[in-house]
Amino acid sequence: MADAHFNAIVVGAGPAGSAAALTMAEAGLKVALIERGEFPGAKNVFGGVLYRKQIEDLIPEFWKEAPLERAIVEQRMWLLGNDSVAKFGHRNERYLDPPNCWTGLRVKFDQWFAGKAEKAGALPIYETVVTELIRENGRVVGVRTDREDGDLRADVVIVADGVNSLLGKALGAHQEWMPDQVSLAVKEMIALPKEKIQDRFNLEGDEGCTIEFIGQTAGMAGLGFLYTNQDTLSLGVGVMVSDLKKHHIKPYEVLDSIKQHPMIRRLIQGGEVKEYSGHLIPEGGFDALPPLSGDGWMLVGDAAQMVNAVHREGTNLAMLSGRLAGLTAIKAHQQGSFSAGMLKSYDDTIRASIVFKDLKKYRGMHSLMRDVDSELLFNKLPQALNDAVYQMLLVDGVTKKEKQKSAIKLLRSVAGGNMDLLRLGLKGWRAMNG
Ligand SMILES: Cc1cc2nc3c(=O)[nH]c(=O)nc-3n(C[C@H](O)[C@H](O)[C@H](O)COP(=O)(O)OP(=O)(O)OC[C@H]3O[C@@H](n4cnc5c(N)ncnc54)[C@H](O)[C@@H]3O)c2cc1C
Repeated sequence: MADAHFNAIVVGAGPAGSAAALTMAEAGLKVALIERGEFPGAKNVFGGVLYRKQIEDLIPEFWKEAPLERAIVEQRMWLLGNDSVAKFGHRNERYLDPPNCWTGLRVKFDQWFAGKAEKAGALPIYETVVTELIRENGRVVGVRTDREDGDLRADVVIVADGVNSLLGKALGAHQEWMPDQVSLAVKEMIALPKEKIQDRFNLEGDEGCTIEFIGQTAGMAGLGFLYTNQDTLSLGVGVMVSDLKKHHIKPYEVLDSIKQHPMIRRLIQGGEVKEYSGHLIPEGGFDALPPLSGDGWMLVGDAAQMVNAVHREGTNLAMLSGRLAGLTAIKAHQQGSFSAGMLKSYDDTIRASIVFKDLKKYRGMHSLMRDVDSELLFNKLPQALNDAVYQMLLVDGVTKKEKQKSAIKLLRSVAGGNMDLLRLGLKGWRAMNG
């Protein structure tokens, strides 16, 4: 590999990196796609839901060939109480024609997706760790790998190395993420016969269902998920690292207790745990977005905190940023300049895209999570709401007016009073609206 020269090197064959490599290889650039795993996706973890739009922009009608699990026809949001659940959700046949999103398994999907970049001409260099970026006169000119004679040179390096992003740190784009900018998620893959999954989740054929739940995370800021695959369920929970540190609880302890919850237990019972994994999720939001480019480099996907945690969207933002970085590299190649000034146009396209606009919309979520007691948001309120609904629906001779009064009183007392409840509602509204 010594002295090999490429138009572009992409570090990391996750959704962001493969999207960048595919975009550039299709345009005829000489691209190297470097991945530390034995193959793309070998060690990658997500929930997970894959969205049509950003994959389709790269590979039209990809769903006819991609390894996907179930097309999501129903999305549920549950507020868990100790022995109860308040449910919201939406099911719509229109989500199937064509599907809006699918469940997927990274071990299959990433391999297929990176394979598309390979077929377009990108050179796969797997089982190879990029140990550092090579710089000359302040400009990134290549990468050093853990292979013997493993230096590679390129006009531009696209850093797609995921949430830990050692290379992003080395570039000075960001520091170590703060504990309140990342959550730690653990996930189990639970094998269950296909028919059982269909019966339990009210599904036909390849239809799928997602459940997200709040509550039962030991009073810590966190979100659980239960997704249907063909013959497995993905069950997991992600908790803010800052809260895990405060509470001295291990995430798998939270997951173990969630598995005992009567509403979850019934859905997974009889299943066999096939796989257990853990991974960080960037949740710093808009204000954590680092500088995205410099002399000879661009930063994409999780490495740049591009996750919309409210809508559990990460893969789509990763693919979009990868594509936009790829398009910028193509333009730079045509103009013969990979200077910081030239690559800055990648930042501009991100600013004009949904990555920036959606993260901006939820800008206040991070401070909401920081300022409001997690115990209140993730335990007391879900429990109080469940108790209020329980009381309203219980036919016990108490008048409906009395019931309504005591339900409101309950919610008020949990929040600390009328004004506090109002303030919390307002904060929540502002956090969701930029
Ligand atoms: C539990 C969980 C649930 C999630 N659920 C969803 C979901 O349902 N839907 C959704 O859209 N998103 C979800 N996400 C987020 C989503 O997984 C990420 O946003 C997305 O994978 C980011 O893609 P990426 O390519 O930027 O990073 P990654 O997918 O992390 O890929 C980075 C790649 O770089 C490689 N790499 C790292 N360092 C080096 C190095 N030095 N040299 C060579 N290779 C290197 C890694 O091996 C990896 O393959 C979830 C995440 C988690 C953890």
